[in-house]
Amino acid sequence: MRLGGVGASPGIAIARALVVVRRPLQAPYAVLTDEAQVAAEVERFNEAVAATEAELNAAKADLSGGLAEYAHIIDAHLLILRDNMISQRAASYISQRRINAEWALSLAVQEAQSAFQRIKDEYIRSRFADVDYVTNQVMRHLIGHQTDDIARIRDKVIVVAHDLSPADTAQMDLDWVLGFATDMGGPTSHTAIMAQARAIPAVVGCQRASRVVQNGDLIIIDGGEGLLIINPDEETLHLYRERQEAYELYSQEVLAQAGQDARTADGVRVHVVANIEMGAEAGGVAGYGAEGIGLYRTEFFYINKRQLPTEQELLEDFQDVARRMGDLPVTIRTLDIGGDKFAHSVDLAPEANPALGLRAIRFCLQERGLFKTQLRAILRASSMGRMRIMFPMISGLGELRKARAIVEDVMTELDHRGLAFDRQIKVGIMVEVPSAVMVADHLARHADFFSIGTNDLIQYALAIDRVNEYVAHLYQPLHPAVLRMIDRVVRAGHANGIPVAMCGEMAGDPRAVPLLLGLGLDELSMNAMTIPRVKQVARRTDLGLWRAVAQEALTLPTASDVAELINRELNDNFPDIFGAAASEKR
Ligand code: PEP
Ligand code: MG
Repeated sequence: MRLGGVGASPGIAIARALVVVRRPLQAPYAVLTDEAQVAAEVERFNEAVAATEAELNAAKADLSGGLAEYAHIIDAHLLILRDNMISQRAASYISQRRINAEWALSLAVQEAQSAFQRIKDEYIRSRFADVDYVTNQVMRHLIGHQTDDIARIRDKVIVVAHDLSPADTAQMDLDWVLGFATDMGGPTSHTAIMAQARAIPAVVGCQRASRVVQNGDLIIIDGGEGLLIINPDEETLHLYRERQEAYELYSQEVLAQAGQDARTADGVRVHVVANIEMGAEAGGVAGYGAEGIGLYRTEFFYINKRQLPTEQELLEDFQDVARRMGDLPVTIRTLDIGGDKFAHSVDLAPEANPALGLRAIRFCLQERGLFKTQLRAILRASSMGRMRIMFPMISGLGELRKARAIVEDVMTELDHRGLAFDRQIKVGIMVEVPSAVMVADHLARHADFFSIGTNDLIQYALAIDRVNEYVAHLYQPLHPAVLRMIDRVVRAGHANGIPVAMCGEMAGDPRAVPLLLGLGLDELSMNAMTIPRVKQVARRTDLGLWRAVAQEALTLPTASDVAELINRELNDNFPDIFGAAASEKR
């Protein structure tokens, strides 16, 4: 059986499925008739709690390397497990009401949920999710369900889930995970970005994969094509084993050339840089041929943290990145919280439409203290590296002026404190809101660079929620409206003498690269592991030809017309990489 989805991270994985069940478990109901039954039931409940505790402790002990950061999530889970509100209450319900352990636990959880709902503090209220998670683990033991214990994966598996949160993936030992398939999510979801960063094939938006696939099924995922195959026949298995081998060989070949410059066939230099989400990643990007950092998403410091980071913590991290990158540019994006990125350490009011709400620069202009702390750290780190500041979600010149004025204030403060920084630091913006595209000429006079964030630009331009799997098929980077926006931004930037980069996922799609270069982009920023492929394609691109292709694409009426044109040109000009014969092999 085959299920289609969205190819989120390329490559082919073949392995047994580990299905992560996150749907609520149905508690059975039973009445206990005598004291012996009650005692046995309490005992059974305590055993389930102890088993859950042992698993959590083991998961914590297994957190390795960069994942050690997440130990506090498991600590919180352990505290909840032992909290009287759940464990003691459930145990006492068993004896007082003479009901089975599952039913007693579900009553205790319901009561905890109503207590949480009454709490005013949004952060604490939202922590019911942790209570839910922990009690589900206990329930699973009681019901005798196959455990979904992702924290203790010790076999090579493909993880199949309805959805995965950063907390889920943080607990997995990714050395054992050969691939991901999720029902939810689009090409820019957390699972997609994390899988790409770790070079793990992934298919997201499969809609019903977690219901159709059974634990232990042999599955194939093709992260390039967006395909999940369940229990394939021998012939299919053989074909995909060959494709997998060819893909791996090809990736190695391309990786071997990653260190070379990306100069187009007609000699134009293209800058290919990396997107990172944690400072520690900076150490590995040069190995993939990155010529700098084009987007450092700094949300990591705020997500899953109870407290805001201090200036010193931020400074140390930014200095560390600067040190690792030497004289290469490091573009630090100021906090982009809100929308699909929420943080516990930051108090965000619940909003009906968070993607259109108090997000990113809007939030920072309101929370000046937090914003200034971040700017101070970036500026101070700029004395030892080529830092660039980038503001997310700028929608017009008013916001850019306000943000720049705050940078000036912070510079004055640092002067007073006698602290060094790079006074010439480049300050640029992400162009990811359609209004910014329309006033790009004004913005270009007040920004040192542009970086187009297609993940959001496409979402806002086409009115397609980027994390909603039901509309994932309508999320079309090649939509003529999107191409015209890119064209407009590039022209406005160049007319005002500033470089124009792209840092959305589109920049890392090798099939889109010749077109993007034809549209005039100067820099492409992406997950480091896709850099070698993108550089290879850029080196083979005849820019003169692709400028003409881009002009033609701008006149076409629909995304499928553009795709047809691009596919034809890729097939003719890169037959060994994108031609029909090549995709047969890969
Ligand atoms: C974008 O919107 O394209 C982008 C790069 O930023 P993020 O995915 O973090 O919103
Ligand atoms: Mg964005």
